[in-house]
Amino acid sequence: MSRSNGATASTTTAPGSAASHADAPAQPRLYQRVQDQLARAASTHELSPALRKILAQPQCEVRVNFPVRMDDGRVETFTGYRVQHNNALGPYKGGIRYHPDVSIDEVRALAAWMTIKCALVDIPFGGGKGGVQVDPSKLSQAELERLTRRFVYALGPNIGPDYDIPAPDVNTNSRTMAWVVDAYAATLPPGERHAALGVVTGKPVAAGGSPGREKATGQGVADLVVRWAEDNGVEVRGLTFIVQGFGNVGGWAARILQGLGARLVAVEDVTGAVRAAEGIDAEALAAHVRQAGGVRGFAGAAAVTRGEFLRTSADVFIPAALENQITGETAHLLQVRLVAEGANGPTTTEGDAVLQARGIHVLPDVLCNAGGVIVSYFEWLQSRSRATWDVREVDLRLRETIVRAYSLVKAVANQRRLDWRTAAYVVALGRIEQVYQERGIFP
Ligand code: NAD
Repeated sequence: MSRSNGATASTTTAPGSAASHADAPAQPRLYQRVQDQLARAASTHELSPALRKILAQPQCEVRVNFPVRMDDGRVETFTGYRVQHNNALGPYKGGIRYHPDVSIDEVRALAAWMTIKCALVDIPFGGGKGGVQVDPSKLSQAELERLTRRFVYALGPNIGPDYDIPAPDVNTNSRTMAWVVDAYAATLPPGERHAALGVVTGKPVAAGGSPGREKATGQGVADLVVRWAEDNGVEVRGLTFIVQGFGNVGGWAARILQGLGARLVAVEDVTGAVRAAEGIDAEALAAHVRQAGGVRGFAGAAAVTRGEFLRTSADVFIPAALENQITGETAHLLQVRLVAEGANGPTTTEGDAVLQARGIHVLPDVLCNAGGVIVSYFEWLQSRSRATWDVREVDLRLRETIVRAYSLVKAVANQRRLDWRTAAYVVALGRIEQVYQERGIFP
């Protein structure tokens, strides 16, 4: 069921319907990968056939086509999606991505991963995701603002503080979220506008956000790398790591790990790759990226090719860009002991098999990058109660929550001799199954 505001071109399609076939996925079979991962864990967990069927498809898909006036007076139309995978544990939750490759297949996969992630870390949210097919580097700030406001208007009541709560993702940030709040509030009667703060998380702190949310995903990655190092007898001081993607997740993970004494030795982003065996100053690189838009041209390291970046010898690789980066081919190139997945879906099924065969440990995305949604939950609580938590409290609660999930996944992996990705799914599916067992299915 979609909720139409009656004023927009808003449609809902079931997967496999004529409308969804028309959306040829830019990255075919990403949702198929999620289904394969679910099926693997479901067999191990002996999940009921009913729940397998329920989780095999999203509950709701909204596609909107909407017009935006550009700075030169032209009108362009854009396509956006919101996929709501499952809400057994609570309101749908998941980011909004702006990227030219956004497709219904990709958004479906990202929404399903949110269902698993929230269940795994035991927060009362379901899984959702959204995106707009757009190259934001080609739009001005004013155009991006109008696009965001119009997308929110087109989604209408398909989002809401108790229903579906977006957050930042690739190419969206706290400023984007502030526009979402303002546009959403404008659709409410005046007496209800105070509730609009809860419609998104990842807001600027001054506009109702939470201290610690901006860095939260990178913080969670760093917390788990530290925990993994302790478990494997590796000193964090002097630990070497490489990072792909130096945006919110990669940039923060790198700076936090550097602050703990680890050494960043190579970075790749969409503009190029840089490497320095003696170490790259992550703070100086972040300043360069803010100014230049990417790592290319950074004076504190040598430019290298993508192949050289992937072959860099280090303890840890943090993929923090897009999906499908560690494939059957590229997994052979890596010279690391641990892959800590900051990005969603960075490793293909073939890539997983190669990493496993080579004895490279993987902290799977649904666990490793869960810091963002954990602190989003804290922000949502603060927005609803008009409270402000101290950043130390946020960081502490984040670490407790994500390390608890790590320990559970580790225990299940060891007990049942599973890879950590499958073990993470087993823990998550167990929680969702319990709710369905206790509640039953309407009617
Ligand atoms: P971002 O837009 O802040 O940064 C993305 C980075 O990836 C940029 O440095 C960009 O240059 C790089 N990149 C893009 N295409 C690339 C390519 N082809 N090769 C190499 N680098 C490339 O995005 P983000 O919020 O940091 O998200 C990164 C990943 O983390 C995504 O998979 C996202 O879904 C996931 N994630 C984000 C959050 C969050 O809180 N922002 C939470 C959980 C997971």
